[in-house]
Amino acid sequence: MRRYFVAGNWKMNTSRSEAEKLAAAVAVGIEGMDAVDVLVAPPFPYLTSVAATVEGSAVKVGAQNCYFEERGAFTGEVSVGMLQDVGCSHVILGHSERRHVLGETDEVINRKVKAALEKGLDVILCIGELLEERKAGTTESVLETQLAGGLADVSNEQAASLVIAYEPVWAIGTGEVATPDQAEAAHAFTRSWLSGRFGAELGDATRIQYGGSVKPANAADLLAQPNVDGALVGGASLDAASFVPIVQAAVELTK
Ligand code: PEP
Repeated sequence: MRRYFVAGNWKMNTSRSEAEKLAAAVAVGIEGMDAVDVLVAPPFPYLTSVAATVEGSAVKVGAQNCYFEERGAFTGEVSVGMLQDVGCSHVILGHSERRHVLGETDEVINRKVKAALEKGLDVILCIGELLEERKAGTTESVLETQLAGGLADVSNEQAASLVIAYEPVWAIGTGEVATPDQAEAAHAFTRSWLSGRFGAELGDATRIQYGGSVKPANAADLLAQPNVDGALVGGASLDAASFVPIVQAAVELTK
């Protein structure tokens, strides 16, 4: 049985006090929802204070990016060790905004994935196709390229700390959500790729989150799909009043 995993990607939003308030509200809001893993990913400068805010609660803290070198002359970058030092258990890598706005390639993402997994920081690796790729019928080959590239040279032992987030780019921040059938098809494809690469046991055990305009109103239908094991939530994670009900929707499905 895979545990549901709901993560909030706050992107470049909130002030420090807003971040602390939001983290506190999530921590209180998910009390008793022990059947589901919950993570928040605030901007770098607020990681320390958010980690302190949620300490003692079930909320995990993650970062939205990292660099693959440990230390040195890499102005503006943040290492895996630094993230662990401030309380992160996870890092989101390969988000579509990193790929398409900041120009990250599968090769760069792969170096980051390996650096994180080698040091024991769990990875949420985002994959997903553009609208024109879906229209051209190339969704699966895009996912395959991103999986093969992002996970090159990752061992089975390391892959045990991996979560995949399927996020169709056309559904991110657009209000246009994939249908449950579209999500399930992409997740089933992803799982079969993982099984081929890492073996059936690991393929079965790896959690695959859906991301792209997840809201309380559509969460239950998406999460009910057999291969949808959670959600990576952007906009709706910026308010506990919309994030917590998404966690609740997952909890209901465990009953
Ligand atoms: C995201 O940032 O990963 C995301 C899915 O955003 P949104 O929920 O706003 O579409």
